[in-house]
Amino acid sequence: MPELPDVAVFKRYFDATALHKEIDDVHVRDAQILANVSGPQLVSRLTGSAFKGTSRHGKYLFAMLDEDVLVMHFGMTGRLQYYKDPDREPRYARCICDFDNDYHLAFVNPRKLGQLRLIQDVGAFLRAKQLGPDVLDDDFDFAAFRKRLSGRRGMIKTRLMDQKIMAGIGNVYADEILFQVRIHPKTPTNELDEKVLHAIFDAMKKVLETAIDRDADPHQFPDHFIIPQRREGGECPACGGNVQRLKISGRSSYVCPQCQEAPV
Ligand SMILES: [Zn+2]
Repeated sequence: MPELPDVAVFKRYFDATALHKEIDDVHVRDAQILANVSGPQLVSRLTGSAFKGTSRHGKYLFAMLDEDVLVMHFGMTGRLQYYKDPDREPRYARCICDFDNDYHLAFVNPRKLGQLRLIQDVGAFLRAKQLGPDVLDDDFDFAAFRKRLSGRRGMIKTRLMDQKIMAGIGNVYADEILFQVRIHPKTPTNELDEKVLHAIFDAMKKVLETAIDRDADPHQFPDHFIIPQRREGGECPACGGNVQRLKISGRSSYVCPQCQEAPV
C-alpha cells in the first residue's frame, strides 16, 4: 500500500520517464478510478499537452500539465509503469498515456482503490482535503509536529496515520517509526513526554528518508528495520524475539512485545 516513501519513488520514476514529452493519446481502461472527470474529458484535456513537473504531498502525486494538474493517488496497490512495446501493457493498467517517443506510461491499480483527478490548483486541493503538512517538508519541524499532536487523545499510531494531522505515514511506516523508538503503537498520545515525542519525530524523518534512499524496497532496508520481518513470528531485529501481529483500528500492526511495552 503506497505510503510517502513509495510515492516519492513513483515521483522519481515519473520525473525520469514522463516529463516534457508530448502526450499523443490517452486510453482509459477503467473509468472507475476517475474521481472528478469522465474518460473522454481526461483524454481531451491530456492529449496534446505535456507533463511539465511534479510535486508530492503526503501520499498524493501531482503532475503539472499546460493547463491542469493531474492528481494521482495509488490506493492500496497502485504503481506506475513506463514501457515501449504496446503488447507489454501491464495487467491492471487502468489509464495509459502514449507519448510522442512511442513510449507509454500506465497507471496500474489492481484493486481499483486508486484515483486520478484533474484540478487547477494544488493548494486549493490540499485545503479541500484538509490534509495536514507533509511530514518530510522542511518546514515541518519538531515544534510543528508537537503542536499538531498536542491535546490529541487516542493511540499514537492512529494519530501518526491521520492525514489531517500530518500527511504521508500509513500503516507500515507507522509501525516502523514506533519500533525504532521502542514505543508500543497503542500508547495514548497524551502520555508521551517531550523527550519521547522528539525521538518519534527524529525516527519519522530518518525512517522515511532511509526508505526513499533505498527505493522503498524492503529487501534493501537496513538490518535494524522491522518491516522485512513484518509477519507473525518474524524475528525482531533488536532482541531476536518473535514479532507479534495485533489489530489496531481494523489494520494489522506488527510489534515486538519484548521491545515495545504495551500500555497498561
Ligand atoms: Zn525485540
